[in-house]
This record gives sequence, structure tokens and C-alpha cells, in this order.
Amino acid sequence: MRKELVQPVSSVVAGSHVWIRLVRTITMGARATETTRELESTSVKYQIGGHAEKMWQRLKGILRCLVKQLEKGDINVVDLKKNIEYAASVLEAVYIDETRRLLDTEDELSDIQSDSVPLEVRDWLASTFTREMGIVKRRPEEKPKFRSIVHAVQAGIFVERMYRRTSSMVGLAYPAEVIVTFKIPVPNLITFAEALEVGYSKYKNPYHNLIHAADVTQTVHYIMIHTGIMHWLTELEILAMIFAAAIHDYEHTGTTNNFHIQTRSDVAILYNDRSVLENHHVSAAYRLMQEEEMNILANLTKDDWRELRSLVIEMVLSTDMSGHFQQIKTMRHTLQQAEGVDKAKAMSLILHAADISHPAKSWELHYRWTMALMEEFFRQGDKEAALGLQFSPLCDRKSTLVAQSQIGFIDFIVEPTFSLLTDSMEKIVMPLIEEASKSESPAFGTPGQNSLGAVSNAETQRRHNFKTTASDGGTHTENSLATVDLTSFKNNLMQIIQANKERWKELAEEEELVRNVDEQEKDQSRNSTDAQLQEETRSIQNESSQGSDGTTCPTRSIVLQVVTSDTSLSDESNSEKCTNSDPNQKDLTDAQQETQNTDPLNGEPIHCKKSEDIVKATEQKQALVHN
Ligand code: AMP
Ligand code: ZN
Repeated sequence: MRKELVQPVSSVVAGSHVWIRLVRTITMGARATETTRELESTSVKYQIGGHAEKMWQRLKGILRCLVKQLEKGDINVVDLKKNIEYAASVLEAVYIDETRRLLDTEDELSDIQSDSVPLEVRDWLASTFTREMGIVKRRPEEKPKFRSIVHAVQAGIFVERMYRRTSSMVGLAYPAEVIVTFKIPVPNLITFAEALEVGYSKYKNPYHNLIHAADVTQTVHYIMIHTGIMHWLTELEILAMIFAAAIHDYEHTGTTNNFHIQTRSDVAILYNDRSVLENHHVSAAYRLMQEEEMNILANLTKDDWRELRSLVIEMVLSTDMSGHFQQIKTMRHTLQQAEGVDKAKAMSLILHAADISHPAKSWELHYRWTMALMEEFFRQGDKEAALGLQFSPLCDRKSTLVAQSQIGFIDFIVEPTFSLLTDSMEKIVMPLIEEASKSESPAFGTPGQNSLGAVSNAETQRRHNFKTTASDGGTHTENSLATVDLTSFKNNLMQIIQANKERWKELAEEEELVRNVDEQEKDQSRNSTDAQLQEETRSIQNESSQGSDGTTCPTRSIVLQVVTSDTSLSDESNSEKCTNSDPNQKDLTDAQQETQNTDPLNGEPIHCKKSEDIVKATEQKQALVHN
């Protein structure tokens, strides 16, 4: 018994008879009862089946059994203590095991490995949305009114009370509640928003610019209202959501984390290659607020400030796409549990979903955003080429399959995210709706005590106010729980996503046709060049092999063989003969000298200086012949 008690946790986990040992230990320490015998047999069964959920239940049963024995006073205290300690260590082991299982994203990755997904798209999905690093991977008229962020901030915080009372400062409408509730100094808010605008425009990115920030902020606001989740969140949390969305890509460089890591940029060094950009976005935005005139959070209490900061950090870091599959898996697991949903996790999911929400918007918008992102990726590809680096997935403007990548993106990333989002919102909001409808408060405005905390007075007031009146005294918009229609919200999103996917499918067919024509043209020009080269080589060979006495050299066939194998660029041997990243590629002046091909291992384009190599090989062989 002693020996079993002192077993290290790891061996307990690894051991194949954990449960039987635990039961034996307990029964030997206490007294073998019918209950524990029954436990013994079922525990082993569950362990063999590897059913974690049931194992937990069993363990609970064992502990209850111990409690019963304790109640009966039928137990030796020393043994009991040891047994409880042992049970605790087993619990810990199961917990570690379970956590490890949760961290494992193998399942999701195996879905991507479907043959229907082009290799390039698979590589991109794996390298962008997991932590797998296998692949090395303002125009004045465009300037949007960054005021839209200010508006979104206001709207997000005071969804139900928007525009009721206004301030005339700089022509903007400021609900008095903005000032009253958080005491955000309006001039600071304006200075801060302007500084954000400058930061978002710093690198003149086609995609990660201030319009994207405003778009994501507005989308977060939309999700909060239309799912009813705002009724679950406190005002501070709503502020955190809107604020996080507004700053989430601040000073984005237009290049990916992988690019920063590969080029060993200052930020990559600063943040040790971990969520490099996301760390910078939060840090730099908070640095702005160190300036007094931009400190919009100056009047928050110390506790509120800390809570908001903690939420903002968690949310923005969760926009690092390499954590996508992990985030989805953890949240799915949470939904299966009886316990309430962790607020920070739910909020992070909302921001993550908003960040990749353009496929859930009209085709015109979605198409524009996609093309803007592709252009940003291609610019990174141009930089990579200039630096002699391998192209990152989707960054080669000559060969990227845009439509195919979008189908993969929607299938594997967007749809599962929005499906999880709507499921999560349902789990959180449905009980609130039921609770509110039972209490029959006007339009379900009465606050319910949610599972994760008490409701403040301000909250009570906010939830009672279910009607929003426009400042112009016009239309009334209800944002109450009674108006929440999650089914429509979900169906609407899913329909748009599907329709967009169909559009990409049509374009993918065209893309495929164009690609085939390109390939054929390339093949044709390759064949004619090859034939020409072979002819040239033959004549050189003839001259040299005939020699002065006109006799034929017996090694001629070897030379031709070398030429032939070096010209068959599509065969597998090619990957050995061509360098993946050719730092000299820029020096090639004759475009015909460079042939692009795809690495059969990772789908990455590879560059072969075909004719140059052939000539070199021919020269080498000729040297051999002459020696
Ligand atoms: P963020 O960089 O914070 O804006 O996160 C959004 C990320 O999602 C982008 O950087 C891309 O990696 C990815 N993403 C968004 N839209 C698309 C799209 N249409 N196609 C491919 N990836 C996308
Ligand atoms: Zn973003």
C-alpha cells in the first residue's frame, strides 16, 4: 500500500491500472465494502474505455464513499488522510492529462489534411491557424472617419441609452452616460482616437488599417446587440470589448508574425517570438494612454482599470490566429460542461469572430476585404523575394490560388468559428431570456443574477432601459432581450457565408481553368526551349565528340541524359536539383531563365534556373569528356 501511495503522479497517469490501484488503496486503508467492490469493477472498465468524463464521475463516487465511511466513524484517520492525498494526486493527474488532451489540436489538423484541399491552402491553414511553425514561413479619399470608432465606443457602452443627451463638442454626439459612468474625458477620447488613426495608417496597409479597426469594432458592437450578450456583460466588460476591438491591430506592420520571426525584427526579439504583433498592439496602445492628454481611462478606479486591462490583454492576444484551433477546442469543451461560460473566453471569441467576419458580410464587402488582404500578403511576398526568403503561404502573387484559399478559410476557420459563436451565445443568453420572461418585466428588462457575478446598480438601470431613443427624437430601437432572435442571427450569418462560399467556388473553377492554360503555355514554351537547348547541346556535343579526327565520343549519351533529367522540371527529382530559396533570383535578368515550380513536399514555389543549370551541367560533362 505504501508503495502505491508514494507513486509519482506521472507514473499514476501512465500506469494502466490507476483506478484499480486507487480503489485498492482506499479499500485497504478503509474497509472493503460492497460499494468499493462495485467501484473497482466499473472503474477499470471506464479506465480501459478512456472515458474521461465518466472517470471523473467515478472518482467523485469514490470520494463520496470515503465520506460515508468517515461519517460512520469506521476508519483509521492516518490511512484516511493518506488515501485522500492519494486521491488528490490522481485527480491532479487526470486534470493534467485532460489539459494535455485539450491542448492537442491534432483532430482539427487532420480535417485539413483532406485531399480536396489544395496543398498550398493546407500549408497556409496549418501555418497560420496553429502554432505549428513547420513552414518558414493613407490615401486621403480612403481615410475613414475614425470617429466611427468613437461612435462605436459610445454605442457599445450605452447601447440602450444612445443619443438621449448630447454634448455639442466638436460636432459629435456624446451621451451623458459616457461621461457619467466612466468619466471618460471627451478631449482625451478625441486625442486618443486621432493617435490610433495615425498608428493604424503608419504602414499604409491595404488590409490592416484603420478601416479594418473600425469594421471590427462595429461588428463587435453588432454581435453584442443582436445576440443579447450585452445583457450578460457588465458595462466595464462592454467597454473592454469595444476598446479591445478598436486597438486590436494598432500599428500593424502589414506583415505576419512569422515574417517578424523569420526576419528577427525588433518586435519579434522584444516579445520572444510569441504573439509578436498582438503583444505590440496592446502594449503600444497602452503606451499612448501614458500621455495625460490621451488617457481615456484616467477616471477608472484602480480595480476597474486592472480588470479592464486584464480583459483587453486576453482578448487582443487571442486574435493571434496561431491559437485559433486551440481557442475553438477549449470553448467547445467549455460548452459541454454544466458550469457557466468564462466571460473572458466568451469575449475573446466574440472579438476573434468579428476579426474574421467579412466572409459573413455581403459579397461586395467580403470580396474587397479579401483582395485587400491578398494584396497585403503579396507585398509581404515581394519583401520575402527581395530578402531571398521562401514565400510564405499565399504570399506569392504569381501562383496563389485566391478562390481556393477562401473556400478553405470559410470551411475550416470561419464556419466553425461562427457556429461556435452562436452556440456559445445560445448557452449564455437563453437562460437570461427565460429568466427575464418568467419575471415578466417590461420587455425582459429586469436584471438577472448571472452565474458569474452580481449586478451593479448601474447595470440594473441599464437593463431596465430597454428602449433606445435617437437624439433626433426619431425612431425607437429596442435592444432588449425580448427582441433577441438567435435563430435568425445564426441563419442569416450562415446563409451569407454559404452564398459567399458558392461565389468562391465559381471563381475557383475559373482559377483552375486559368491555371491549366498557364501550365499548358508554360509546358509548351518549356518544351520548345528544351528542344532548342537539346539541339544546341547536340551540335556542341557533335563538334566536341567528333574531335579533330571526326570520331564519335562514346560519352555523348551521358551528356544528353543529364540534360534530359535537368529539364524535366515536374518530376520528383526536381526538388533535389532546385534550391528552395535562391538569394540570386533577383539577379536573373532573363525571365525565361527562371522557371517556377512547386515543391512536392510543402507546396512552396521553388525557383530553378533551368537553362543555366543545363548549360552548367553540359559544360561539366564536356570537361569530363575532354579529360
Ligand atoms: P488580424 O490579423 O488580427 O486582423 O486577424 C485576422 C487574420 O485572419 C488575418 O491576419 C488573416 O490571417 C486571417 N484572415 C482574415 N480574412 C481572411 C481571408 N479572407 N482569407 C484568409 N485569411 C484571412
Ligand atoms: Zn484584425
